[in-house]
Amino acid sequence: MKGLIMDYPLTTNTILEYGNSVYHHKKIITHLPDGTRHEYSFGDMYKRCKKLANALTQKLGIKNGDMVGTFAWNHGPHVELYYGISGIGAVCHTINIRLSSHQIEYIINNSEDKVIFVDATLVPLLEKIAPLLETVEHFVLINAAQDFTTTLPNTLHYEDLIADQSDHFEWPAINENDASGLCYTSGTTGLPKGVLYSHRSTFLHATTIMSPNAGNFSNRDTVLLIVPQFHVMAWGFPYLCLLSGSNMVLPSSNLQPEAIIKILIEEKVNKANGVPTIWLGVYHALKMNPPKEKLALEEYLVGGSALTKSLIQGFEKDFGIKGVQAWGMTETSPLGTVSRLQPLHDSLSEDEKITIRAKQGTAFPGVELRIVTDDGKVAPTDGKTMGELQIKGAWTISSYFKTNNHESFTEDGWFKTGDVSTIDQDGYMEIKDRTKDLIKSGGEWISSVALESALMAHPKIKEAAVIAIPDEKWVEKPLASIVLLNSDDTVSDEELIDFLSREFVKYQIPKDYVYINEVPKTSVGKFDKKEIRRLFAEGKLT
Ligand code: ADP
Repeated sequence: MKGLIMDYPLTTNTILEYGNSVYHHKKIITHLPDGTRHEYSFGDMYKRCKKLANALTQKLGIKNGDMVGTFAWNHGPHVELYYGISGIGAVCHTINIRLSSHQIEYIINNSEDKVIFVDATLVPLLEKIAPLLETVEHFVLINAAQDFTTTLPNTLHYEDLIADQSDHFEWPAINENDASGLCYTSGTTGLPKGVLYSHRSTFLHATTIMSPNAGNFSNRDTVLLIVPQFHVMAWGFPYLCLLSGSNMVLPSSNLQPEAIIKILIEEKVNKANGVPTIWLGVYHALKMNPPKEKLALEEYLVGGSALTKSLIQGFEKDFGIKGVQAWGMTETSPLGTVSRLQPLHDSLSEDEKITIRAKQGTAFPGVELRIVTDDGKVAPTDGKTMGELQIKGAWTISSYFKTNNHESFTEDGWFKTGDVSTIDQDGYMEIKDRTKDLIKSGGEWISSVALESALMAHPKIKEAAVIAIPDEKWVEKPLASIVLLNSDDTVSDEELIDFLSREFVKYQIPKDYVYINEVPKTSVGKFDKKEIRRLFAEGKLT
């Protein structure tokens, strides 16, 4: 029997209309690369989305289902593009500016973008590949001076494009299962693959992440969106801020630790998101230059790679700021789990509590997780049995865009994450490694993530990345690349072996160490193990 409830579409227009009707007074603040600050309200942004919708349909001829690319940092116009493009039934394709030229060319041609909106500061990256782009009819420049010169063909200025448009626009009826956004994986495992989000998945992800047991966002918050809008829709934050009525602070390219701290102070930001690399940088910058007053920042939500126990402890002890770990993938919209304590943990010691918070956490409502062992069996939830993490849910990918990649999905409808994890009796998932990064030494698995977390708790170490290298006797063995906090410091291999022996058994402890200036990072700031392996293979890791 069908329920007798309205068939009300969960679309990005529903989010925008809600944000405008209830929170039109809330603010969107952008710190631009030249140091200027721009502030306007959700209500102002709403009107500009409608102007944009008129321009897209009437001036640029964009139709339902067309792809429109963005190549931009986090700022007000980029938020307008999120809503304006999907609002007319087109698809907002956010292009990762940090990919290689070859990958960028590939994804623009693969997605068949008709128009690309590009930041003036990023134009040189597209100029190089423009002649190779097969489908792009117009480039629209954002934040470009009137006398800006470029070799890009068919350019328009964003402000000119929307200036004379009406701010009245009737949104078309959109099926909530239609595509709203497209984001490619960062290609750490081959060519980037497209993940096509739907209006419904975007809506459900945002409403869930906002709830207290999840991201905990409300109309009392001012949120800094550090995660780039070109990476998994900034974790859905431009949507959840409109639903929760949180002020949105956008840093554009101001992502150096000092610049982030300045914005945190100036805007009295109390919540933020970001990958661990960013927060590690902010932590060390705060240690070097402690702020005169306590920051308003209460919580930072971290994902993308592991938030270590030592960073959680450091931030909390030194600055009273709480790190909250979340896990996700481009394929899971991205957020799938978050690690928060519950009343059942009240009686635990502080150390035990931090150990739980350093896990990747419990699934969000609407998401299911399971661990499948090498022999194809579903593992018990004992916190010990390792296997591949599989996921299904209301915002999990069902297949890749234009690719028949069956090996990523199981026959019974789960997505295979490629992460090796455990799940404990209370449902807390812990990532041990990615399948391809696990080290198998003498037939025993060694978790590179666990070694890295332990090494990064050493007072002299800033970053540590562990990879497997060939070994005659053990087949593989771990090699640790170490970045010291202070380049004048020294630390011996023996000291590190001794330090690790408190937590690890002998065979797990790396005997090989290299001391480097910086760990190579991927386009989204993760340790680039593929690159570290390449440097090692070419004898350049010294
Ligand atoms: P890519 O797959 O190209 O690296 P994603 O951003 O989609 O790009 O990365 C998803 C992967 O990042 C996950 O499969 C997992 O390995 C890792 N990851 C994400 N969040 C965490 C976390 N909190 N702790 C450890 N690893 C994480």
